[in-house]
Amino acid sequence: MESDPNHLRDPYKPDADEAELPDLECAICFCQFNNIFNTPKVLECKHTFCLECLARMNVKSVQPNTLQCPLCRAYTPLPDLGLPKLANDSTVLSYLPAAMQHVYSIRFNRTKGKLQVKRVPSSAPALTHTIRQSLDVGNPAGEGGEGSSARERSVLITILRSPLCKAFIMCTVAIMTIILIIVILVMHKPS
Ligand SMILES: [Zn+2]
Ligand SMILES: [Zn+2]
Repeated sequence: MESDPNHLRDPYKPDADEAELPDLECAICFCQFNNIFNTPKVLECKHTFCLECLARMNVKSVQPNTLQCPLCRAYTPLPDLGLPKLANDSTVLSYLPAAMQHVYSIRFNRTKGKLQVKRVPSSAPALTHTIRQSLDVGNPAGEGGEGSSARERSVLITILRSPLCKAFIMCTVAIMTIILIIVILVMHKPS
C-alpha cells in the first residue's frame, strides 16, 4: 500500500492540500480510520486513535476505567456507557468517504475482549454484507496468562494420573528389574 502513493490519496478530495488534511490513519496501527471498528475516537488530550486500538489498550490495562494516551500519557476517564461512547473525531470523520459518515453502533465487552456491531444503520444497507460483526481485541490483563498455565498444569496432572501412564511406568520398572537381574547373573557367572 505504501509503495503506491496514488492509493493513499483521497479520491473524494483530489484538490485538498495535503498539509491541511488531518491524519486519516491511526497512529498506533496505521489503519485507515473508518466508521466501524476503526472509528476515530478523540481523547481529552485531543489525540485521536481508532476504537480498536483503544479497546486493545483498555483490555490490557490495569486501570479499566481510564485510558492513558500513548502519545502524551494524559489520562481520559471512560464514559459510563463504555468505551465506544468516547467522542468521535468529527474532523477526521468529515474527511472519510460519504458512505462512512454514519458511525456504526458498537458494543464493547471487556471481559470477553470483544467489539461487536450492535446494529447496522439503515443508511448503509449496501455495506451490511461486507462488514465483520465482531472483533477480538485480546483478553483482560492477568487472566489470559494465568489461565493458560493453570490449564497446562492440569493437563500434565491428568497425563500422570492416566492408567496408560501408570502401565508405562510399571512396564519400565519391570524391564529395568529384568535387566538388573541379567547383569547380576552375568557378573556372578563362574568363569
Ligand atoms: Zn488503531
Ligand atoms: Zn494525548
